[in-house]
Amino acid sequence: MRARDDGAIRIEHHGDGLWRIEELFAHPYCRGAIWVIDGTERRLVLDAGWGLVPLDQAVPELFDRPVVAVASHTHFDHIGGLQQFADRLVHPLEASILADPSPEAVQSVPFLYDYDALVFDPVPGGFDVDAWRLPPMPATATVEEGDAIELGDRTLTVLHTPGHSPGHVCLFEEATGFLFAADAIYDGEMYDTIPGASIPDLLATHQRLLDLPVSRVLPGHFEVFDGQRLHELIESYRRGKLA
Ligand SMILES: [Zn+2]
Ligand SMILES: [Zn+2]
Repeated sequence: MRARDDGAIRIEHHGDGLWRIEELFAHPYCRGAIWVIDGTERRLVLDAGWGLVPLDQAVPELFDRPVVAVASHTHFDHIGGLQQFADRLVHPLEASILADPSPEAVQSVPFLYDYDALVFDPVPGGFDVDAWRLPPMPATATVEEGDAIELGDRTLTVLHTPGHSPGHVCLFEEATGFLFAADAIYDGEMYDTIPGASIPDLLATHQRLLDLPVSRVLPGHFEVFDGQRLHELIESYRRGKLA
């Protein structure tokens, strides 16, 4: 992997064998980050973006090592590119959505039709919103609370973190304190009233995250932040809900 920005795809190196890939055609709030975590034995890819431009064309270097792909949850801007990975993991509560990712199930409908999700047209010749369908991409295995995903010299622990969606998972690397938070917490507006979301569940998830020794949060949207900012964001969200 190597850092680059060609106007369509941006790849950032975050040190420690970590890379973030972003599809720049989407506005940040619906631009699910693709996190790459390199271990000595294999590479973990957390989430796969929209996948409108196939990832093996857009980022061929992503596939130059053995890869296991994990879906933090099954919203359209996190799983579109998952079809390109042979090993696909998801929580059991959202496995049926990966197997049958209809526009309703992956919740692309309001974003594509009611909001201004796209910064520029991602596809040569024009993106046909009405025709866009994700293919079935059933999970090859499921992951649950407490599972360990081994990459050789590093291990990620699966945390079941519902609230944004029922089967949402975060990954936590105990050795470094890195929390791959996806949409459980980020430095922006939380989506907690969409179908499948639960504010009480999200508050409980946040309480769990507060109890972890987090050094750095690598979220599904917006900027990376530290453990102190994690506490501030969670407190601010909680105050807003209890007010
Ligand atoms: Zn998201
Ligand atoms: Zn989401």
